[in-house]
Amino acid sequence: MMTKTDFDMLKMVRPNILKLKPYQSAREQINDEDAILLDANENPFPSGYNRYPDPLQRKLKMALGKWKNLSPDNLFLGNGSDEIIDLLIRAFCIPGKDSVIINVPTYGMYEVCAKINDVKVIRVALDNNFQIVPEELIAAAANSKIVFICSPNNPTGNLIRKDLMLEVLEKFKGIVVVDEAYIDFADEPGGIAELEKYPNLVILQTFSKARAMAGIRIGMAFMNAEIIQILNKIKYPYNISKLNQEAALKALENNALQSGIKAMKEQKEWLVSELQKLTTVDKVYPSDANFLLVKFQNHQDVFERLRREGIIVRDRSKEPNCERCLRITIGKSIENRKLMTCLKHFEQIKI
Ligand SMILES: *Cc1c(COP(=O)(O)O)cnc(C)c1O
Repeated sequence: MMTKTDFDMLKMVRPNILKLKPYQSAREQINDEDAILLDANENPFPSGYNRYPDPLQRKLKMALGKWKNLSPDNLFLGNGSDEIIDLLIRAFCIPGKDSVIINVPTYGMYEVCAKINDVKVIRVALDNNFQIVPEELIAAAANSKIVFICSPNNPTGNLIRKDLMLEVLEKFKGIVVVDEAYIDFADEPGGIAELEKYPNLVILQTFSKARAMAGIRIGMAFMNAEIIQILNKIKYPYNISKLNQEAALKALENNALQSGIKAMKEQKEWLVSELQKLTTVDKVYPSDANFLLVKFQNHQDVFERLRREGIIVRDRSKEPNCERCLRITIGKSIENRKLMTCLKHFEQIKI
């Protein structure tokens, strides 16, 4: 396969963003550790956090680059993946004119971010196996700037087939965002290896799921360095706090990732087999993530009764092709057992 050649980033970016001269910190060009810093009106007395953080998060990106086997130049960090989704839309889509494609049912933030920016959302349905349909997607995307593909998909839990994804990358001339928030739970490596071939590919990952760091709001994106330069121009200069950069670095030093994933998988396997024994459960969808999409006969009752027992799950029944479905995150063993005890109890007293 050849490297994609029909991607012209300069034609894709909004003209006002291309022209934009970004805010410049006086410190960006200076690498002198002993410099006397009288440029940013900070308080000179140390509190641990009296200085602005590194706007380009260089130390954290070095560590992440080693983990992902990527150059720091191909890494972008956001205040959660949600910030990166918003920045991509703002960089490429002209409000009131451009559109993005989403494959439904999927993660809600693509649509919310697009609408906040007055960018049109074209919804293409996933097929009955919750796979993307490249022909339909490409036909719908003729004038779109961005296609969002979520793999493993939220809320359905399945990986998107690689051959289908590559077909979209080959044929679509805009940006293809592949959201891999749950990829660490899957038994496949995801799309990082494709970055070299596809300058229009943006991969999103996050500290929020397998890394167990949702509280620090760090999303990662991997893409060609040209797009990163554009995003760096429009992000808030200090979008990742020093506290959060430090916490992320620390999280990378500890090796609990694989054991956490293994424990989650054991719990998932147990929950699947238990849920399948219930007569109120019509279907447990296969999951490559840390949650299950479950079709109940009586999802509303189940939802409300769990709520009364203090167990919160997500009602996804209004999503296309998800009638009567609840999305259940895999919890700790004790939480999952409590969930099953409740569900079995409901069944005995007939709901
Ligand atoms: C949870 C999730 C994210 C993570 O978003 P953050 O802002 O990084 O916490 C991204 N995409 C999908 C599909 C998710 O489900």
